[in-house]
Amino acid sequence: MKVLVLGGAGYIGSHICKALALLNHESVVVDNLSTGHREAVRWSRFIEADILDSTALIDILQNEGPFDLIMHFCAKSLVGESVQNPAIYYRNNVAGTLNLLDAMVATKHERLVFSSTAAVFGMPEKDLIDEQHTRLPINPYGQSKKIIEDVLSDYHHAYGIKSVALRYFNACGADPDGEVGERHEPETHLIPNILKSATAGKSSELKVFGDNYPTPDGTCIRDYIHVNDLALAHILAGEYLQENDGAFAFNLGNGNGFSVLQVIEAARDVIKQDIVFSIEPPRAGDPPILVADSTKAKQILGWQPTYKDIESIIATAWTWHQNEKF
Ligand code: UDP
Repeated sequence: MKVLVLGGAGYIGSHICKALALLNHESVVVDNLSTGHREAVRWSRFIEADILDSTALIDILQNEGPFDLIMHFCAKSLVGESVQNPAIYYRNNVAGTLNLLDAMVATKHERLVFSSTAAVFGMPEKDLIDEQHTRLPINPYGQSKKIIEDVLSDYHHAYGIKSVALRYFNACGADPDGEVGERHEPETHLIPNILKSATAGKSSELKVFGDNYPTPDGTCIRDYIHVNDLALAHILAGEYLQENDGAFAFNLGNGNGFSVLQVIEAARDVIKQDIVFSIEPPRAGDPPILVADSTKAKQILGWQPTYKDIESIIATAWTWHQNEKF
C-alpha cells in the first residue's frame, strides 16, 4: 500500500510508519511539528504542512498521491486543555478533519483510518466497554472525536468515504529497538511520568491522582495497550477497507485493567528502583474504570495484541526512556 500518514511525526504515528516500512508499505508523512518530532520521521518522505491548510492538503493528495489509504493522527489530545480552551480542539480536531475529508472527496481518495479514543464514552456505565456502549463524552476532546465519528458515517453515506475509527484506550510503551518512543511536552501520562520521576531522582514528584475511587485499591483502573499492537490494528484496518465498504469503529485495548498503584508496582519490578509518590486530589473528568472489550476487532480484523502483561509494556518504555533519541 501507499499510505499518507497525517501526524506521522507523533508518538503513535511514528510507530505506525515503522510498522508499515517493516511490511514493505510506502508512507508519506504530513505533520505541522506542533507536538511531533522531525527526528521521529525515519521511514517516510516528510512534508511539513498543517491540516488547517486546505490548499496544501489538496496539493499533497494530488501531487504525492494517489494513496491507497490515509491514516489520520493529527489532533490535540489533552483532556484538561480541551476544557480550558475548547476552541483549539474544535478547530484542529473537527475543522482540520473536515478539511481532510473534503480534500479526499475533491481528489477521489476514499479510504481513511481515523484515530479515535475511549474518551468518546465519557463516564461509562459498564466496566468492560464494547462498541455498543453509549457515546457520551464529558470533555471537548472526547466530543471532538465523537463529532468526527458521526461525520464519517455521514460522509460514507453521501460521498462514499470508507473509514475505520479506532478507539484507543491507554496507548503506551515504545518501539522495543528504542528507535522511536513517547515524548510529550508537557507529559501527562502515567507510565512516562513514573519513568521520568525515577530517572530524575525525583520520585517524590510523582503524583497519584485520587485514592478514593470505587476500585479495590482506590486508584483508577485503565487498559494499557502497547503502541505496536495499536500499529498492527491500523494496518489490519487499512487492509479491511480494501475489501469492505462502510464507516466502522473498533475499541482497542488489552481487556485487562490495572490500577495506578499496580502500574507503579510493576514499574518498580521492571526498573528495580523504589518509586516514591504523593497522593493528590483526583483529576477532573477521570472515570474510575476504563477497560476495552476488543472482541469485535479480534473477530473482524483478526487483531490480537501481543503485549499481554504490563511489565513487558513498561520494559519497552524503559528502554526508550533510558536513551531517548529526541
Ligand atoms: N495518573 C496519575 N499520575 C500521573 C498521570 C496519570 O495518577 O502523573 C493517573 C490518571 O489520573 C489516570 C491514570 O493514571 O487514572 C491514567 O492516566 P493517563 O493520563 O496516563 O491516561 P488517561 O486514562 O487519562 O487517558
